Amino acid sequence: MDILLILYSIVLTALLASPFLYIHFNQGKVLTRESEEKSSLNSERKMLLENLKDLKIEMDTGKILASEFTELSKDIIGDLKALDSKLESIKTASPSVQRTGICRKCSFHTTITGAKFCAMCGSSLG
Ligand SMILES: [Zn+2]
Repeated sequence: MDILLILYSIVLTALLASPFLYIHFNQGKVLTRESEEKSSLNSERKMLLENLKDLKIEMDTGKILASEFTELSKDIIGDLKALDSKLESIKTASPSVQRTGICRKCSFHTTITGAKFCAMCGSSLG
């Protein structure tokens, strides 16, 4: 048994696998960051809707006046609108990241995020 040969093959395997692992890992990070932001915005949205519902109940039961309800709900609705536009910007931001992967020479779409060269013909994507 040649230990050096075993070590060498382990190192070689690691070197060959590392670019794929790196891409896989980074894509996962990008996706989780995006979905994390989306889910936190969505839970914020749910909370605001919940508050609005509570206010409505308080008005219906006579705890607050209708004028108070209008005043308080105005703020909540404003926040909801801001959240919706944030969610919309996340949705529209994602395809523009991928658009950078289209080759100017052969129009092949390289789907690797942050790729510098075309996967088909190897020309620069910068
Ligand atoms: Zn190309």
